[in-house]
Amino acid sequence: MKEWLLELIFPPRCAVCTEVLDMEERRGILCHDCAEQLPYVPKGICPHCGGVTETAGFCDFCLKEFAFESACAAFPYETVRRAIHLFKYDGGKKIGDGLGQLLADYMEKYHEAILAKTDFVLSVPLHPKKEKKRGFNQTHILCEQLSARTGLPFRRDILVRKRETAAQSTLDSSKQRRQNLKNAFAVTEDLIGKQVLLVDDIFTTGTTCNECAKELYRAGAQKVFVCCLSAAGKLS
Ligand SMILES: [Zn+2]
Ligand SMILES: [Zn+2]
Repeated sequence: MKEWLLELIFPPRCAVCTEVLDMEERRGILCHDCAEQLPYVPKGICPHCGGVTETAGFCDFCLKEFAFESACAAFPYETVRRAIHLFKYDGGKKIGDGLGQLLADYMEKYHEAILAKTDFVLSVPLHPKKEKKRGFNQTHILCEQLSARTGLPFRRDILVRKRETAAQSTLDSSKQRRQNLKNAFAVTEDLIGKQVLLVDDIFTTGTTCNECAKELYRAGAQKVFVCCLSAAGKLS
């Protein structure tokens, strides 16, 4: 169907509040109000536990659970739940690009120090079969935007998925989630001395990012930072 006809039947809506967008707003994915008052996770609040912290991103208490050096999330999951769904399942490349730009805005605003230390950006990999079925890896789109904005290279070939796994959301216990991802990832290159930024769309229990981080450290990475578009923690 022609794009103008589609827009007539399904007018584009704000990715956050679902208000129909006017012509000018349609260049982006947000209405004026949402664009002005971006509902980022506030600085000083941990996106994982909702507790108070002195910095932007995960608090020290939460970080103890994980192998990575630091982690942050731009939005509480509920805020961007609809947008992520549209992006993942309807192949909304434009929405993905828009979300990637919002993530880049957030990183520049709150995590300049991390961007300055990062050698390159990596994405949590999908199994090639799953990627083929979906047509794309949604996190690649976020990485491409982040890379375009910051100038950091996006190395999509370094962290790969070796085997298919069950969806983490279908597993109840943390042991099952860890077991499911055991030996699921591999690193294809020596990372000695490298500081890398691992990007994902939704941080839930963190098992996936943690398993990826462990693999990156095994390959010699000096520091692994994690940045997610959203966190489905206590804030959501
Ligand atoms: Zn809105
Ligand atoms: Zn916390």
